[in-house]
Amino acid sequence: AVMVGRRVRSRRRWWGVVRVFDEFEEAASTPVGRLRQVVDAMAVEMHAGLASEGGSKLKMLLTFVDNLPDGSENGIYYALHVGGTNFRLLRIQLGGQRAILEYDVERELIPQHLMTSTSEELFDFIALSLKEFVERKGNNLQIPQVRGTNLGLTFSFPVKQMSVSSGTLIKWTKGFAIEDMIGKDIVECLQRALSRRGLDMTVTALVNDSVGTLALGHFYDKDTVAAVVIGTGTNACYLERADAVIKCQGLLTTSGGMVINMEWGNFWSSHLPRTSYDIDLDAESQNPNDQGFEKMISGMYLGDIVRRVILRMSLESDVFGPVSSKLLARFVLSTPSMAAMHEDYSPNLSEIHDVPLKVRKLVVKICDVVTRRAARLAAAGIVGILKKIGRDGTGGITSGRIKSGKSGKMRRTVVAMDGGLYMSYTMFREYLNEAVAEILGEEIAPYVILKVMEDGSGIGAAMLAASNSAQSVDTVQ
Ligand code: BGC
Repeated sequence: AVMVGRRVRSRRRWWGVVRVFDEFEEAASTPVGRLRQVVDAMAVEMHAGLASEGGSKLKMLLTFVDNLPDGSENGIYYALHVGGTNFRLLRIQLGGQRAILEYDVERELIPQHLMTSTSEELFDFIALSLKEFVERKGNNLQIPQVRGTNLGLTFSFPVKQMSVSSGTLIKWTKGFAIEDMIGKDIVECLQRALSRRGLDMTVTALVNDSVGTLALGHFYDKDTVAAVVIGTGTNACYLERADAVIKCQGLLTTSGGMVINMEWGNFWSSHLPRTSYDIDLDAESQNPNDQGFEKMISGMYLGDIVRRVILRMSLESDVFGPVSSKLLARFVLSTPSMAAMHEDYSPNLSEIHDVPLKVRKLVVKICDVVTRRAARLAAAGIVGILKKIGRDGTGGITSGRIKSGKSGKMRRTVVAMDGGLYMSYTMFREYLNEAVAEILGEEIAPYVILKVMEDGSGIGAAMLAASNSAQSVDTVQ
């Protein structure tokens, strides 16, 4: 009788866990109908953000990049990329005719304490790393032709640009919090740190990582009109017509277009499938009520959503064993570990320890729900951009010709992709690619190509430093 009683109790406990899972799965579901609502909301918010300053949670920032690289660039360029977790140093030699003759990249983790220190400390560290990099690469700065070398700076945070080579920080995201930086000109900070280190280099392009990715995409393929980064954080940019940027009347560009940095991490819509775990994650974050889309999609947060669901289950039942205090700590479950558990194809799921097999299977299912939702929401975001620029095929199909926008044939459309999550989390990438095709439908999907641009964020900045479109953009007023 004792045995039976215990079995009944443990079965009940198991059902408690299953109920928590079912509720979560339901709340996080992304049927294609819901994704289409997100697509529409994204397009609407884009319009609103372009119409007036503060018109939407989407900032739709001007980048002053109007001419994208076309492959004709020539010479040696350096770039720095300050991202969310990593810091990258790059050196490329361009040979015209779409040729990258030489390419060197080094990655360094940004020391945790620098993310919350002072702007001077951060930029000193960056300048020193660059100096050492330049020396390692054998470019003695005494050599006259290297003196004054152009440098591209990729800065993966929201920046209000004044020109293609200057801009002030609007706010931090992704766990950075260096108070004295807000409102400061990023290029000035770097330029000062460079001269403190005796480096004679000129920052000729300041770009968001999504913009760098678009630049590299365009260098290889002129049909590239948008770029998406999904790494520690997430964002997108795209090529807009200058006259569609209503909030900046009289924007003159040589090409008639301008790249817009959407800062889509801050997108919000009531159609997003938000769960109680998202609400808690946001409330306990460094930036509550901010970056809502990013918190459902990007690498900084996915592991932590999984942790929260497991924590809830382990409070409900002892199938996970006694509640470990470790589970209470934010971010203990990183997204790379989550990916390893999710993509563990060993029969006994050995990436997950200390719990029975059926519990391990449940953990894999939790990872699946979290990743699938993230990937599908990002996919809806991408189709939202295509819709805004009339490349989603909703112009209709007449007499066998697929139309785009008001008229004309559906054109081949390339979206450049970069970021650690998209690059290294296979399941995420597959869910995203599948969802884009599902939303677009089989007639349109073949015209839309997502192309991986590894290190595009940084290489693109070096290319923009090369083509430095600064002189060609101007505003009347
Ligand atoms: C930042 C963006 C950046 C994105 C991807 C976001 O948190 O706000 O500027 O492009 O992360 O790195």
